[in-house]
Amino acid sequence: MLSGKTALITGSTSGIGLGIAEQLAGAGANIVLNGIGDAVEIETTRARLAASHGVTVRYDGADMSRPEAIAAMFAGIAAEFGGVDILVNNAGIQHVAPIDEFPPEKWDAIIAINLTAAFHTIRLALPFMKRKGWGRIIQIASAHALVASPFKSAYVAAKHGIAGLTKTAALEVAERGITVNAICPGYVWTPLVEKQVPETAKARGISETEVIQNVLLAAQPTKAFVTVDQVAALAGYLAGDAAASITGAVIPIDGGWTAH
Ligand code: NAD
Repeated sequence: MLSGKTALITGSTSGIGLGIAEQLAGAGANIVLNGIGDAVEIETTRARLAASHGVTVRYDGADMSRPEAIAAMFAGIAAEFGGVDILVNNAGIQHVAPIDEFPPEKWDAIIAINLTAAFHTIRLALPFMKRKGWGRIIQIASAHALVASPFKSAYVAAKHGIAGLTKTAALEVAERGITVNAICPGYVWTPLVEKQVPETAKARGISETEVIQNVLLAAQPTKAFVTVDQVAALAGYLAGDAAASITGAVIPIDGGWTAH
């Protein structure tokens, strides 16, 4: 159980991050939600999570592409909870286009949110975890941390970078009771995937139905989407004491995709 612990899940207003927030709240952790979205919807989610699990749930809308906003969020968490015990780096965006047509500002945004933000959150979380002699850092990477697909240059570069950051951080804190691992989901049906279907159709010159059948599900031998609940359950396991010996691991949950 995670009672008395504080979990920050970046990008938890939607999709996988919200599922992980639900899982960790269910295990008793206080939660800091983060992400972009409609203020009323976010407040409804925050209040529902707090009431259904009897934990404290805060929301901080820090833009993960801005290091100073990340630092301000950590200062707020330190003031209220003392620090972060469980850090889940989940916020992410995608853009699909050939490299020679890839907008440089999209490259910069993806590297900032999907990779550099994790450096800042880890940098700011570790002093507290080291003082406590306990910590869990869980990166939501992707099968694209292990293999590539065309037209996703920035995303694949950022996710491969996350795998390297995970291993490096794990080695640095291995004797301090802190584990650092990366979860690598295959395709999970969330707003991030839904939005890339029309972009992929355009980049490949095929229909949206063909994208789902011949590109997304074709990658996964199970021919089924991974579910948010399955990813959240793995994150919940990694957050617990039973996972104390798992560190520096880059773990696929991808219906067999990376076994190819
Ligand atoms: P999603 O779009 O549902 O959620 C993304 C979250 O990130 C949202 O809460 C959004 O508000 C937040 N976010 C985006 N930009 C932000 C910013 N600048 N600052 C703060 N928050 C920001 O997508 P998802 O599919 O749940 O993706 C979550 C993570 O899982 C991402 O890192 C993604 O790369 C990874 N992932 C997703 C899949 C998939 O198939 N859906 C597969 C592998 C990995």
